[in-house]
Amino acid sequence: MMQDLVTERWEGFLKRYCWNELIEMSNSYPEKRSLFVKFADMDTYDPNLADMLLEEPDVTIASATQALREMDIPTGVTLEEANLRIIKLPRKLKIRDIRSGDIGKLAGIEGLVTKATEVRPRVVEAVFECPFCGHIFSVEQTGGRQFKEPRECEEASGGCGRKVQHFKLLVDRCKFANTQKIRLQESPEELRGGELPQAIDVNLEDDISGEIAPGDRIIVTGILRSYQRTTQFGKTPFFDIYLDGNSLEVMEEAFEEIQITEEDEREIMELKNQPDVYEKLIRSIAPSIYGCNEIKEAMILQLFAGIPKELPDETRVRGDIHVLLVGDPGVAKSQLLTYQVKLAPRGLYTGGKSSTSAGLTAAAVRDEFGEGRWTLEAGALVLADKGIAAVDEIDKMKKEDRDALHEAMEQQTVSIAKAGIMARLNSRCALLAAANPIGGRFDRYETISKQINMPPTLLSRFDLIYTMMDRPDEEMDTKTAEHIIETHYAGEVLARVKNIGKVEEGEKEHFGVAMRIMEPAVQGDLLRKYVAWSKRNVFPVMSEEAKSKFLEFYIGLRRQGYDDEEAPVPVTARQLEALIRLGEAKARTRLSNKITVEDAECVIEVVNYCLKHVFTDPETDKLDVDWINAGTTKTRRDRARSIKAIITELEAEHGDEVPVEDVLDIAEEEGMDRDKAEEVIEAMKRDGLLFSRGSGVIGLVR
Ligand code: ADP
Ligand code: MG
Repeated sequence: MMQDLVTERWEGFLKRYCWNELIEMSNSYPEKRSLFVKFADMDTYDPNLADMLLEEPDVTIASATQALREMDIPTGVTLEEANLRIIKLPRKLKIRDIRSGDIGKLAGIEGLVTKATEVRPRVVEAVFECPFCGHIFSVEQTGGRQFKEPRECEEASGGCGRKVQHFKLLVDRCKFANTQKIRLQESPEELRGGELPQAIDVNLEDDISGEIAPGDRIIVTGILRSYQRTTQFGKTPFFDIYLDGNSLEVMEEAFEEIQITEEDEREIMELKNQPDVYEKLIRSIAPSIYGCNEIKEAMILQLFAGIPKELPDETRVRGDIHVLLVGDPGVAKSQLLTYQVKLAPRGLYTGGKSSTSAGLTAAAVRDEFGEGRWTLEAGALVLADKGIAAVDEIDKMKKEDRDALHEAMEQQTVSIAKAGIMARLNSRCALLAAANPIGGRFDRYETISKQINMPPTLLSRFDLIYTMMDRPDEEMDTKTAEHIIETHYAGEVLARVKNIGKVEEGEKEHFGVAMRIMEPAVQGDLLRKYVAWSKRNVFPVMSEEAKSKFLEFYIGLRRQGYDDEEAPVPVTARQLEALIRLGEAKARTRLSNKITVEDAECVIEVVNYCLKHVFTDPETDKLDVDWINAGTTKTRRDRARSIKAIITELEAEHGDEVPVEDVLDIAEEEGMDRDKAEEVIEAMKRDGLLFSRGSGVIGLVR
């Protein structure tokens, strides 16, 4: 009776609030078979029923669904299989706050999808046949984890009632629903102070399964349920909680999440109008780290990002700026990375040797989670979609990641084709990576590619690369040391004040100075809002002068290869694209829709710095992209050519195989460093240009 009343109330509600949607749904039924009801509407219509929805969602939603399915609709369609789904609960429950009291209640949970199984059918109504009397009857399979099999033939529907060991399951008469299991994790930005994210598993059924992919940010409304944990020894007294998903909402764009009030907007405009806004922004990055200004500048440009473009020919060009820091240990690489992650919305910090199987990109696995289904698991770059992924010690990444990273960085997608899973996930994020050279110390005379074990093809996808060397230098060391000592001093005083509220005589004044050193020029909160406002509202375009500046710079560099066929390749079109992206980001730092000639000059300086430090062959001091791109340079190629010539010469005397010592001697006579000559020979052996059957002799492979 009660149930009927509730159903009636729902009927009234649906007619009043959802009539148009119902008509619409009936027109494209059954493809469209979910009606989404806003909780607030129900609350206005009948607060008691809304309360009931929260407290006793199972029966309430069942009644609502019944009302929906029995609805008399003028289009003449009966919505027998329709689902009623509740969205926009007023209060969101945090995953870490879920307690036993929440079980059985309706809850809205927000998070990041880290895993999703493939969509597979689940039996919702199993049909059995009695082996004795042939009676056919059905058993409803409610959401539980166990398949419900009857023990005896069903008398109520006319069966023989006998006990039966095994009923025959009539598969083609069973009713199925599509299901998918996902894992929802707390959003990284909600975590404070290095907490580990917690997660909850969610079951999705029917038309809301298969709608989302790992890396998506969603709100799931559903009913919290528990199930008993089992071990190999049987049941335990502990229960796990999962969410029976009722509805899904995909969350807004990353920067939309940042609320900007009118007051904020005033502050943003005020900051924008300051003549030194760019320098101020740079000085706001990691003030506790001394120096590294070029890198901090790159980090600011990365935060603002260039413009992702859909070109008229349907190609997409990324706007995100990838930055790589390579350097000696202890030069604050990790610190800079963590700082950037704190500033960026959807920032995510991870090690190259990530602990999850998904690593940096994604993986398809078949484990316990999927209960027989394949699971697609998102890695760091997918989870950081529309944000910034900071990957520390990227030199330690897995081989699969190294391969998949090419696509993830340039196309900004991760494709997986394994077993039943074919998926393409988005990884529209900027990558800030740090790498330690294999030998521990950075060697200027060795290629970066070799030192951090990263293929040149990947290296070339970074817009900016910085080398950070830790070389003793008294002036610099003193300044850095003073800075570190002051920041630690301030930290010490701060810790005492916080804990016991006591400042000693004479500390106050000094403390003020120390605090000022660490004060960012623009507070993190305002900086975040400033960036968000800019990314939302500013879409700069190159001015004619900026265009010609870029052209002039690029052609100027390329020119060295025009007259001299033997000259190294100085830069490629990739560097030009990087330049344009950086120009866009630079204009955005001023909230300007125009990339001026000053912007162009500024970012040319930024790129030039990298070119000088990273792309320049230290032996010739010439710009040579191959220095990092191909892992070999013009000088190396020249050397290889000389070695070949020497061997050919010696062949006249020795035949096919010539003594290595003789080759080295002649090379030395010709002015080549003996070590270098040896290195080139080794490299040529590796590349299959030389063979060596016995020790001490080599020959040319023809
Ligand atoms: P890396 O990741 O490059 O090995 P870390 O980021 O772990 O180095 O830095 C080591 C420590 O040295 C950090 O506590 C950092 O604050 C400090 N440090 C290194 N360089 C600087 C600097 N220039 N200014 C301030 N602190 C620094
Ligand atoms: Mg480190």
